[in-house]
This record gives sequence, structure tokens and C-alpha cells, in this order.
Amino acid sequence: MHVPPIDLSSTNPLPDIETGGHAYETLASGGHPEGTAVYARLWNPTVARFEAGLARLEHAEAAVAFSSGMAALTAAVLAAKRETGRRHVVAVRPLYGGTDHLLASGLLDVETTFCEGTSTAVAAAIRRDTALVVLETPANPTLDLVDIRSVVTAADGVPVLVDNTFATPMLQNPLEFGAAMALHSATKYLGGHGDVMAGVIACDQGRAAALRRVRAITGALLHPLGAYLLHRGLATLPVRVRTQQANARAVAAWLADHPDVARLHYPADDHPLIGRQMNGTGAMLSIELRGGYEQAAHLTSAVRVFTHAVSLGGVDSLIQHPSALTHRPVASDARPTPALVRLSIGLENPVDLIDDLDRALSVNRRTHVHRSAIRPRIPDLQA
Ligand SMILES: *Cc1c(COP(=O)(O)O)cnc(C)c1O
Repeated sequence: MHVPPIDLSSTNPLPDIETGGHAYETLASGGHPEGTAVYARLWNPTVARFEAGLARLEHAEAAVAFSSGMAALTAAVLAAKRETGRRHVVAVRPLYGGTDHLLASGLLDVETTFCEGTSTAVAAAIRRDTALVVLETPANPTLDLVDIRSVVTAADGVPVLVDNTFATPMLQNPLEFGAAMALHSATKYLGGHGDVMAGVIACDQGRAAALRRVRAITGALLHPLGAYLLHRGLATLPVRVRTQQANARAVAAWLADHPDVARLHYPADDHPLIGRQMNGTGAMLSIELRGGYEQAAHLTSAVRVFTHAVSLGGVDSLIQHPSALTHRPVASDARPTPALVRLSIGLENPVDLIDDLDRALSVNRRTHVHRSAIRPRIPDLQA
């Protein structure tokens, strides 16, 4: 078989009651199918194929896929509560706005302590009833890097979940640094083409069984068509990430010198975690504009090559304003500054991306630099 099939069946023939009942019992407690997959809420082979591929990329024993990144996080929290009987979570800020919102909301009946990503802060936040530590590196939207191993040490045996969405398994494998789970919003780089919503968690077999159990009960399933697209997307993930990262480096280098950019958020090459924990600087960046919110509003409306839209990690470049959109539900004292704009760099020619930003930033100032003048300012384009 050159291309794998898509299994859309919602139910499966049962050889006999005995076999069916035994398979149901095994699957409902998080196990693998035996004799029959019974019902698609318990198991789907197309979803399992994507999970196996992602597990290999994360150097994990297993992976469990969900209908969205938020569904995956919800399952991780519910499984941690159920496995430990504890209901406290430590969350390292900054986080994706939806993650922050879910953990702060109390909706899952957990109490959350938010802290900084230092080992001292994490150690101080851990309690006897802590079930889970959640962190994101690079963090959304500031691109802060968090030392996974030092947080794992500070967590003192409490499982650490790392949101690896921004890095992708190409640039970082959190399990190698002691994380218990690596979570992806597969909607982003794994899908890569802006046409699938999904989440996935890579972990050991025991945690995977617990996550599948929660998934079977709550029904937060990934549809097999989405799983097919995600599996296909894995084949191009390395080339996409490599090229998007090269493009992001060119855009970041140009923005770093721009008079309207007060601060560039992009991991520095000489950051101690680059090369040790993360094998590259990624393709996400944020800028704080000297013109504040007003200039941010203007820039996001004036771009033509970038699309003004939330989400990230796709083949086309996106720009969005975190404090108004993705991070809107975050408590005001932890929300990103209104001067900050987040950029997800895609596969376009970086000269076109820079030209677009240059034009959109200079419309007010009428100092647009002709693209021939931009070219020499990108030293590593051919690299
Ligand atoms: C988008 C995102 C999520 C949530 O994923 P959905 O697929 O939108 O539910 C979680 N973490 C990060 C870092 C994200 O960017």
C-alpha cells in the first residue's frame, strides 16, 4: 500500500458476544483492540496510524489524539486528577490564552497556581495535592524559553506536561528532558495547512491508556479524515519547519533593526537552551511596536501577504494581536502588552514577507523602502 486508507466506519462487526464484550472492556479501560474495535468512540485505525507516527517523532511509547488542542489538555487534566485523586495544578506563565483560561476557570474543578518558569518559583508553587505541572516552551506569545529539566526537577515527581506546539517534534522532544507528556495543538504545525483542528499528547503507555479512557468516556475524538490529513502532514513536517524557520530568521533579522520595533521576541542564537533543549529558533516571533496599540491595529489591517488571522504554524504567514484575540481571556495583569503583535512565518519568499511588513509599517510614514533595497539586508537567505 502506497497511501494508507481512511476508515470512516462508526461501528464494527462483532464476531460473537463474548469476543465483543471482552474487546469493549479492554478498549473502555484504555487498551488496544482485541478481535474487534467495537465502536469508533473507542478506537479508529486511521487515528491510531497518526498517533503511532507522532509517538515516533516525539520518541515516546505512545500518543493519543483528540478533537482539538484544548480537548487534549482537558483530557490530560482529567486523567491526572483521576489517577492521583489530587486537584491542584501548577501552570507556568505565559501560556496560550485558551490554556490559561481553562486552568483559571475552575471548569475542570482544579485549583491552579500560576508562576514563573524558574525552578524556585515552580518548587514554591508545588503542593502535596499537586496533580500536574503545565508549561509551554517556547511560550505563546513572548517566545520565552523554559528549561524543562529544571522544572521537572523542581516538580519533585509531579508529572510535567509540556506544550510543544511552537517547537514541533522537529526542534524539541520534551520527554527527553523528563517531561511526562508532550502536548501539541495539531491544528498548527502538525497539520500545517490550516485545514484540520486536532490535539495530541505523546507519553508512556500507562498515561496513554489513562488518556484513551478519558477520551472514550468524554468523546473528544479526532475524526479519521483529520487524522488522515495529519498523518500526511507528518511527511512534510521536517521540510516545512526547516524552511519556515529559515524564513523567520530572515524576517526577525530585518525586524530587529526596524525603527518602529521597540522589542523583538525571538529566541537568541546564544540562548543557553538553543542547541541544548531546542534544536533551532523556530518560526514564530512577536514584536512590540513603538506606536503601541494604534500601530498594531494599523499593521494588522494593512498587511497583504500575511493574513490577519489567529492560529499559526501553517504554510501561509499569519499575523494577529494577542491581547485582543488569542490572549483575551487571560487575567489583565498577565495579558500581553497591547503593543505586541505575533507573527507566524510560512513558506512564502521571505523577501515578499519583509516587503509586506515594510509597506504596512511605513504607510503612515511614507518611507517605504523599495524591495531591491531590502534584499541585501537578508544575509542568510541562501543558507
Ligand atoms: C492553539 C494552541 C492551543 C489550543 O489548541 P486548539 O487546537 O486550538 O484547541 C494550545 N496551545 C498552544 C500553544 C496553541 O497555540
